[in-house]
Amino acid sequence: MSDEARITDVESQLFVLPLSEPLTDAMHGEHTHFELITATVTLDDGLKGTGYTYTGGRGGRAIHALIKHDLAPVLIGLDATRVEALNQFMDEHLHYVGRGGIAAFAVSAIDIALWDLRCRTRGEPLWKAAGGAASRAKAYHGGIDLSFTVDRLLENVQSYLDNGLSSVKIKVGRPDLNEDVARVKAVRELIGASAALMVDANYSMTVDAAIEAALRFAPYDLTWFEEPVVPEDLDGYAAIADRTAMPLAMGENLHTIHEFTAACDRAKLSYLQPDASNCGGITGWLRAAAQAARHGIPICSHGMHELHVSLVASQTHAGWVEVHSFPIDTYTIKPLQIDQDRVIASDEPGIGVEFDWERLASYEIGQNTV
Ligand SMILES: [Mg+2]
Repeated sequence: MSDEARITDVESQLFVLPLSEPLTDAMHGEHTHFELITATVTLDDGLKGTGYTYTGGRGGRAIHALIKHDLAPVLIGLDATRVEALNQFMDEHLHYVGRGGIAAFAVSAIDIALWDLRCRTRGEPLWKAAGGAASRAKAYHGGIDLSFTVDRLLENVQSYLDNGLSSVKIKVGRPDLNEDVARVKAVRELIGASAALMVDANYSMTVDAAIEAALRFAPYDLTWFEEPVVPEDLDGYAAIADRTAMPLAMGENLHTIHEFTAACDRAKLSYLQPDASNCGGITGWLRAAAQAARHGIPICSHGMHELHVSLVASQTHAGWVEVHSFPIDTYTIKPLQIDQDRVIASDEPGIGVEFDWERLASYEIGQNTV
């Protein structure tokens, strides 16, 4: 193997994938489908690596266009082994129109492809290449269930329990706090006292409303209260933590290392939840994880459990993997393995995610639309 590996091609594809039923949280409206944007990087020796990002149904065309028009052409001929330097290069290349946001999604897809190549070249699974602490991690199922009736909510939670995960997260942020409290109480009674229960407001509350909600949720022994307020209000998070002693979590809406650093410094978080699909890929996720480690914060994940299982497990300060409600496992060759409340990372060389391209094919949006 030579020390260098030149990039000869970067191909991006956009897929629009249906959900079996509409899913709703407090702030993002109704999800009826999700978008998958893949990036496949080819090297001069023919080796291919695939990365990807996803959306809740909007913005995929813009991400796909950024990869196709603004990143792919400038990556051709560069050395793919310099993953961290290429991440920095892409970040700077899009900085003026990015500083996070959609640009961070585009960079993430390519960074993950470069990590796939790194792992395949070394013959290592991602959990080893990313840190190597362990190959399994504790997990909970995250529901997108705010519009469900209490009966439907409990039916949904029961399906998670039947699937081997006893810890769950539900959405909160109903117009009447009494309804949120009743839902939390009902789910706690269903899952029992020993399972972890989390709630997620998707930043829908004011600081005062979140304090009131946290105090009302306190009897139900929550593991965390996720995104009670907007992710920019770091002092608001600190105030909620100080006033209620409720453990707080966030990270899915932080896109740059500077945002993670500020959140770790100021927000008094108990858990950090970066998403490698939107924070600069695996390189960005590991930087956020390192920042969390410096602050003694367990590292968790948001979304894309099929990838995050390897990342969270790889860290000595591993927290929880969220098993997400988007049915990505329908479109991969090996569905996520769950065993006694834990998820198991792939031992195959690569990132551990192999798409079922045949199955995806009919959902592709044509190459000429962006
Ligand atoms: Mg969330």
